[in-house]
Amino acid sequence: MKEKKARTKGVGGLPVSRRAFILLGVAGVGLAWAIDEAWTALTPNSTIEELQNPLFIDAETGRTFHIKMGPGMTIPAISPFTGRATGYPAVFCYWTKDGGQKTDPTAVLMHSYIGKPEPTFCPDCDRLVVRGNPRPKPGMTPPPTEAEYWATHSRPPNWSE
Ligand SMILES: [Zn+2]
Repeated sequence: MKEKKARTKGVGGLPVSRRAFILLGVAGVGLAWAIDEAWTALTPNSTIEELQNPLFIDAETGRTFHIKMGPGMTIPAISPFTGRATGYPAVFCYWTKDGGQKTDPTAVLMHSYIGKPEPTFCPDCDRLVVRGNPRPKPGMTPPPTEAEYWATHSRPPNWSE
């Protein structure tokens, strides 16, 4: 006999609809985007506390801080380090330089968030970071390092280095 109970995939054991959460208290596109970003950075074991206080990274100092999500907040968010709107949702990288995995991720600021055309590489492992950066799984090929990436891609025309 089939089990009739519908299983809802939840976060922290709670049946949370991702879309409903995004629509909750949306102050604008920026907030929806930030929540969406925060969701992608979370693991299935993340707590509601982590959901409501996602990690942001200050574009000027590179320092990270937690922010309380809520109506009226804007992106970029006010950074406690600059006192200005220089905070962006952090994307996490779990790779190591030699292609291994680590449990303590590096918080990365996406270039696309701050209007830079070139791709983002992790300051720790030097590997390509993308939005919603996937966590390493066994057998997964590590993302290319900056050198590996540019060996197969042409640089943007306005590249300055
Ligand atoms: Zn990394």
